[in-house]
Amino acid sequence: MNIPIKTDISTSSRVLAGKVALVTGSTSGIGLGIARALAAAGADIVLNGLGVAGEIGRTREQLSAEFGIKVSYSPADMTRPKEIAEMIAATVAGSGRLDILVNNAGIQHVAPLDQFPVEKWDQILAINLSSAFHTTRLALPAMRHNGFGRIINIASTHGLVGSPFKAAYVTAKHGIVGLTRVTALETAEQGITCNAICPGYVNTPLVEAQIDAQARAHGISRDEVIRDVLLAQQPNKRFVKTEELGALAVFLSTSAAATITGIALPVDGGWTAH
Ligand code: NAD
Repeated sequence: MNIPIKTDISTSSRVLAGKVALVTGSTSGIGLGIARALAAAGADIVLNGLGVAGEIGRTREQLSAEFGIKVSYSPADMTRPKEIAEMIAATVAGSGRLDILVNNAGIQHVAPLDQFPVEKWDQILAINLSSAFHTTRLALPAMRHNGFGRIINIASTHGLVGSPFKAAYVTAKHGIVGLTRVTALETAEQGITCNAICPGYVNTPLVEAQIDAQARAHGISRDEVIRDVLLAQQPNKRFVKTEELGALAVFLSTSAAATITGIALPVDGGWTAH
């Protein structure tokens, strides 16, 4: 006997139509890939990040024309809580809602612990961790008001395991996994979920800088750096694709993922299976 089950789980390609998504650090790399995937799923997008005004303007036009959605941009610097507050206030004032918050902005610096520049430590903690605290605390009232919210924190495999010479980055990423769990627990009855995505290596400008620096430091080729240094721990021996992370962010934003909250999901080709 077939028992009809009532469900609002949608699998349509415009599954996020009518939603508003803010992606920090979305002028490049993973953030831009996630913004694109959310736009393709029908969400209006608020871009954020550093960059050249003309290029950002072109990205806005392209996304808007390709997917028929609204795209705005906030230049808020993620080291500045006041600018973060203005970004969230402008988003909610502009559309009356903020449904999906992707905390993605991040930077890297590689140095031994006893030589780690203090100002780099402060900057990485501010951008990679504290900015997510500020966006989250400021976005929650609008999400609670609508009884719906999706907070997706882009952590890293380095939120789950350490690597030498990345003290600030590994600390910030472990911190954001902790913030994810607390946020999930505090919002669990309010239609809001909070999850962390933990990618292995993705070939973006952030990683490009490491490839060149490592090649110079070890006197080896770029291919050798990619295979023997970066992907040494990544068993599938290829970079994660931004499209794969975008598709996951869309899934976590749908009603199908309503009971997935508080997780730190590795997307790392088996790195953390070691
Ligand atoms: P990226 O350099 O391509 O992009 C970083 C984004 O953050 C850019 O849009 C940049 O403008 C923005 N940004 C930097 N400083 C900012 C500031 N002060 N205020 C506002 N925006 C700022 O790097 P990516 O590889 O796409 O990294 C995105 C996120 O993914 C980061 O949090 C990173 O730690 C994480 N991550 C990256 C990898 C990887 O292998 N590339 C792996 C795991 C996690």
